[in-house]
Amino acid sequence: MAKTIDIYGAGMSGLIAAINLAREGYDVVVHDREKGYGGDPQYNPSTHTTPIDVEKTSEYVGIDLSPVFHPVIRCPFYFHDTKIEAPVKGIYTVERGNRPTSLDTLLYNQCKELGVQFSWNDPLKKEDIPKLPKNTIVACGLTPSAYEMLGIPYLRWYGWISRGEIGFSGYSWIWLDEGITEYGYLSSVNNYYFNLLFSIRHVSKETLKKYQDFMVRNEGVEHEEWIYTGGAVPIASPDNPRLFQGDLILAGTISGAMDPMLWFGILGATVTGKVAALAVTDRERAVADFRRFTRRFRQAYFMKNKVHYRMRPYVRLNELLINAIGVKRVEKLASMVDRMPLLPGSIPGFARVMGCF
Ligand SMILES: Cc1cc2nc3c(=O)[nH]c(=O)nc-3n(C[C@H](O)[C@H](O)[C@H](O)COP(=O)(O)OP(=O)(O)OC[C@H]3O[C@@H](n4cnc5c(N)ncnc54)[C@H](O)[C@@H]3O)c2cc1C
Repeated sequence: MAKTIDIYGAGMSGLIAAINLAREGYDVVVHDREKGYGGDPQYNPSTHTTPIDVEKTSEYVGIDLSPVFHPVIRCPFYFHDTKIEAPVKGIYTVERGNRPTSLDTLLYNQCKELGVQFSWNDPLKKEDIPKLPKNTIVACGLTPSAYEMLGIPYLRWYGWISRGEIGFSGYSWIWLDEGITEYGYLSSVNNYYFNLLFSIRHVSKETLKKYQDFMVRNEGVEHEEWIYTGGAVPIASPDNPRLFQGDLILAGTISGAMDPMLWFGILGATVTGKVAALAVTDRERAVADFRRFTRRFRQAYFMKNKVHYRMRPYVRLNELLINAIGVKRVEKLASMVDRMPLLPGSIPGFARVMGCF
């Protein structure tokens, strides 16, 4: 009789773990607090931009991801209104949610073909944790209550979100301002956009207004609806990354597989979905792979906290510096990143960004 594995969280990492375990002959039951697939409706549908080597990542997870990851064509960085065209080689956008063009739809359809069972409206609760069978996988993403119930250190973030259909694809931007510790960004794919202005402190309506004015002035884009939301990220401690919590296996962002600098979480969630499945079938390999994928976390964590956050308030100074050097010269310097060789010991496709991969 096949062994049953329970997975909590029908987001991207939970579904990748489910596909890999079902292929190994396990009976897989995926539980989610929502009423259907597509991830947390607070955030999805959405579009996410990330550095990724689609071919190598597909190979690692055993799923062809190329139909849903689309190359970014342009991604300007703005320091207030000063614009620098950033290099975009190896940067992709992917759609999340339950629209036909999303990553979740691709993964969910494969789960169904493999006979994975789903239990909707079925949240993981604190009182259930001691009763969960060994090797239950928890893949609850950025949900603060999940971090609380498992005792995983996390940082809260706050932000304004807008999303919907738009007449372009493959275009992103990043905006830096003193009103936020992180950034404002738009990403677009499949004629859908997602715009997020976020920070580890509350983001005022005045900062949102400043961002909206910036968008109209520089990009000619205006959105009607914005909602205020937030979540948890596993970057509260340099020791955050963990594949196991007691007898449970962690997958996705809750395992700490997130880049502490720019908070890229897509790539980490993709590969740790596979790592979580390996933790059931080949624990030693899973431990080694998890360590390999998250080995830059500490370094990036300290860079973010000791260097980045100290310099982050000086957007105006950066702006003055860029203009003094000359925008074209700065863009030429930035474009050299694309031509740089990988750092020694780097994993091809995972290494250019200062992060865990
Ligand atoms: C607004 C926003 C914008 C982002 N933008 C980017 C970006 O541009 N680039 C990038 O690389 N990363 C980005 N990220 C991060 C990235 O999207 C996440 O790190 C990644 O999607 C998380 O995948 P996951 O598999 O860990 O969880 P998810 O795919 O989020 O899935 C978690 C699942 O767990 C379920 N769940 C939650 N609590 C429970 C419970 N108690 N019981 C049962 N089920 C539960 C949820 O309903 C959901 O289905 C962004 C994140 C957010 C929130």
